[in-house]
Amino acid sequence: MCNDQSVSAGEGMSSTRIFLGLDSGATTCKVNGIDAEGRPLDTVLRQFPTRSREGREALLRDWIHAAETFLDAHRLTWDAVAGVGIAMPGPFDSYGVLGALPNYPPELRGWNYRADLEDCLQRQAVRHLPVATGNDGHLAGLAEAREIQRDASGGVLLFAPGSGLGSAFVDASGRVLEGDHHSAAFFCCMPLPYAELGLPKLSCGCGRDWGCTERYCALSGLPDLIRLVLPRHPEHPYHDGSRTERGQALELRDRAQQQDPLALEVFDLQARALGFAVAMGSMAYDPTHVVIGGGLMDPEATTPAFRQRYLDGIRNAATPYLWIPPEDLQIRPARLGEHAQAVGAALLALQG
Ligand SMILES: [Zn+2]
Repeated sequence: MCNDQSVSAGEGMSSTRIFLGLDSGATTCKVNGIDAEGRPLDTVLRQFPTRSREGREALLRDWIHAAETFLDAHRLTWDAVAGVGIAMPGPFDSYGVLGALPNYPPELRGWNYRADLEDCLQRQAVRHLPVATGNDGHLAGLAEAREIQRDASGGVLLFAPGSGLGSAFVDASGRVLEGDHHSAAFFCCMPLPYAELGLPKLSCGCGRDWGCTERYCALSGLPDLIRLVLPRHPEHPYHDGSRTERGQALELRDRAQQQDPLALEVFDLQARALGFAVAMGSMAYDPTHVVIGGGLMDPEATTPAFRQRYLDGIRNAATPYLWIPPEDLQIRPARLGEHAQAVGAALLALQG
């Protein structure tokens, strides 16, 4: 398994010391690295297919391929690598052991991917390389917090709505709160006070029936929100039935950039929902900084005016519910975009 040796060990003794970070999903893997001071090495997004359907060995080969392509691009060998981190979606059965993941084949449950990756790396690098691992949302928070804590003090709470809602808390010393079961600060399936938004209880794929937060502020809940808001927009083209619900949801962000009133109303609702989560998270962890990531904060996909409207909506919804003075909570955009999880994985390896 994983015995391709396109980057050789032992070549060109290098004094460079880096940490590699992998961010693996079911179908793609991103890779980045950091230097010994924790600074990201790449601004280019390097993304590779992963063949989780083909099982463990295929995944291990894909991860090694991603890592070695990164090293090649930076003219480095395994000699330069001091540690490797890998971000994975949870849940985990234990540290480095996959739980039941919805997008992964069921036979991968219980796989100690961390130990197998360490064995693989031992063969590639011809020496022991420690592998650190964590939940991808937690590691995104770790990376974003590092960016803030270079020149500011205080804890950092991250919210990153994507298909679901990623979230994390990093304390003032730069340590991410993982929890005893690797599932701390999981706001995705905490209950949201949806009645305050004038919305009904939405069911969640997790099976909880209390109105999970991510249904109101992430992509997975958009079809429901569109259906609920559409009657208030009788002239909207979505009444013509030419698009699937999924198609409507996927194009809604672009429509909002064109000032589509339905799209703006839906994202204003999502901003208010996320504002409630920010207030609850602020009470739980008392951070100084809140970082908002996710697709609605992507500078390549949204306008500055839209992002400001979204952040203002979050702040305005959170403010009446905060325990602390609102000026003591800095709500700011994420800086690392899609690099955050891989950089966070590398940082976890650096922290050891
Ligand atoms: Zn849920």
